Amino acid sequence: MRLAVLKERRASETRVAATPDTVKKLVGLGLTVAIETGAGITSAIPDTEYAAAGAEIAPDAAAALSGAGIVFAVQMPEAEQRALIPRGALLLCTANAFADPETVPNLAQAGIDTVAMELLPRITRAQSMDVLSSQANLAGYRAVIEAAASFERGFPMMMTAAGTVPPARVFVIGAGVAGLQAIATARRLGAIVSATDVRPAAKEEIKSLGAAFVGVEDEETAAAQTAGGYAREMSEAFRQKQAELMATTISKNDVVVCTALVMGRKAPIIVTRAMVETMRPGSVVVDLAAEAGGNCEATVPGESIVTGNGVTILGYRNWPARIPVAASALYARNLLTFLSTFWDKETGAPKLPDTDDIVKGALLTKGGAVVHPQFLPSQAA
Ligand code: NAD
Repeated sequence: MRLAVLKERRASETRVAATPDTVKKLVGLGLTVAIETGAGITSAIPDTEYAAAGAEIAPDAAAALSGAGIVFAVQMPEAEQRALIPRGALLLCTANAFADPETVPNLAQAGIDTVAMELLPRITRAQSMDVLSSQANLAGYRAVIEAAASFERGFPMMMTAAGTVPPARVFVIGAGVAGLQAIATARRLGAIVSATDVRPAAKEEIKSLGAAFVGVEDEETAAAQTAGGYAREMSEAFRQKQAELMATTISKNDVVVCTALVMGRKAPIIVTRAMVETMRPGSVVVDLAAEAGGNCEATVPGESIVTGNGVTILGYRNWPARIPVAASALYARNLLTFLSTFWDKETGAPKLPDTDDIVKGALLTKGGAVVHPQFLPSQAA
């Protein structure tokens, strides 16, 4: 069976869905791996390294996809490339399935079986295939590194003969995978770190990393975590209480790292323009939620801006793509693990049982139909 790996075409995407390491293992499963030429360049992987690992280098997407039974991509391929995917092929990618309501029915019509890697359930068995975790972890690290580079004072306390530089105060909003890595990274750089979240479990995790917890705790937060582990959208009454606490907290911090997301929804606004105005000149806000609209009202998604009062707001959309070598290595591993888990050695092809929780959570389309409960035609209206 042929497996095609596409060169990513979406703006700012620098990652690739296979590495020489995973190509070797895919070839070991009995697959012929075709890599579209140049697919790895922005992740520092030249064609020659893929070829040395046993891949065929295809001159364009059409050649890579010709006869393919499996397609690996980072982002959902554009319509032009999707039209080249053979009927019956299995596509594994970050489908961004909630973003465009047309994509899922189009995939079904094209007869492409699609696994949306971002919809995998957050269960122990799926951990090694969990692209949200692997990418968010790196995004959290990178966010702090970029904040430190933009912050013109430095993170650690420095006691020198010429005087003392105070440590930076960093506040992290949302302590999921990205937020916890941001806390750990900021601590390693010597900052004084505090953080907030709405899920009760997050409080202990924040404290275990040596950061202070700052947050509203009430009956609503006690039930703020869904069965899937995600945060619920909070009520207006909660948002009022949280806003009061944020107003006093944010003005005291030099760097604010925003990571709060609500699965399938627009990101909650937690840092208002008025709060940004209370920050000292030279402060930095990093908004990892920018792709989902941002947690900061002043964020311009996709851009780095400086506000009238001298606060830098980094609103890049695709943070994992800002650390592509590591992000590609982990993403490629996630896809390999998924495929190996559902690999039928006897037929030399993938087998996705309808009864498996991982398949139920992530399979969008199969055999020409939409199969995911959240995207069935009756749900889409
Ligand atoms: P996420 O990216 O969906 O959200 C980031 C954080 O923002 C979350 O901690 C969330 O609680 C918080 N948040 C949302 N709304 C907020 C608000 N209004 N104010 C403050 N904070 C808010 O989260 P994630 O990193 O994808 O993690 C989601 C869950 O999955 C967590 O419970 C995590 O522990 C769990 N998880 C499980 C596994 C596994 O077992 N396989 C792997 C990774 C993550």
